[in-house]
Amino acid sequence: MSFEQIVGNDKIKAFFKKAIEENHILHSYLFVGIEGIGKALFARELAKKILCFQQEETENCASCIAFQSGNHPDFYEIKPENKTIKIEQIRNMQQEISQKPVTSNRKVYVIIDSDAMTKEAQNCLLKTLEEPPEYATIILVTSNEAKLLNTIKSRCIKVSFEPISIEQIKRYTKETLCIDIPEQLLEASQGSIGKLLILQEQQEIYEQLNKLLEKIETEDLITIFHQAEVLYKEKEKIQEILEYINVLLYKSRESKKMRAISYVEETKKRILANSNYDMCIDFLLMKMWEEFATK
Ligand SMILES: [Zn+2]
Repeated sequence: MSFEQIVGNDKIKAFFKKAIEENHILHSYLFVGIEGIGKALFARELAKKILCFQQEETENCASCIAFQSGNHPDFYEIKPENKTIKIEQIRNMQQEISQKPVTSNRKVYVIIDSDAMTKEAQNCLLKTLEEPPEYATIILVTSNEAKLLNTIKSRCIKVSFEPISIEQIKRYTKETLCIDIPEQLLEASQGSIGKLLILQEQQEIYEQLNKLLEKIETEDLITIFHQAEVLYKEKEKIQEILEYINVLLYKSRESKKMRAISYVEETKKRILANSNYDMCIDFLLMKMWEEFATK
């Protein structure tokens, strides 16, 4: 993988290529966008590019090789430990950042899921964002911008990542990953390759769901409850499963099925609100069955 090979977000790529060429890399950026669209990957590839000695697409200089092996002395990645980024992690980073670069002329810090920083950690980071060493670039990555303090956000240049188009994902999965992804999964991925790969793993589940929806139309309610084991079992993945059911309902173009989307949405909310899980699924199946039965 190289900076040039990143799929999608071509404008952002062009923006940074120009900034690197003109040696105009700023001190702090905030990468925002939905989960799984490659913001962290982009941040890492950009870091490699900034630190690169040669600025050639081949990326085989000593800096790039060190980066690739995970041993670049001028690159630091901070991520949540037990779901939060604590003030100690930021303090360690601050101690580190005060020392001059070792091999490159810059140092790059990427903070993954930066919204996981505690309030104290954010306030602590603020000091560095206010007066960064001139060689430092800090990239904050987030899919939940609202959890960052305004004072943090105002110190960073915001870079918004767009979901990747279905066509681009299709090409990427076919040509780079050499896998054929069914059209329905491509749509459910919502422009996120990360999400797509998770979805693909769950394909077996989806096949069961396809069958279940077919059965809801023809079988009695008791049979449906028995056939819907997958919904009761896959509690962890239920939000994505429900999303996929929506795609199927929507694609059917039958008005009775499209009406059932509102029940799926209702179920998603009930589950998020910690209602009794099995009862939420009972509710959904019953409502879908009633809807499908109407002519
Ligand atoms: Zn290089």
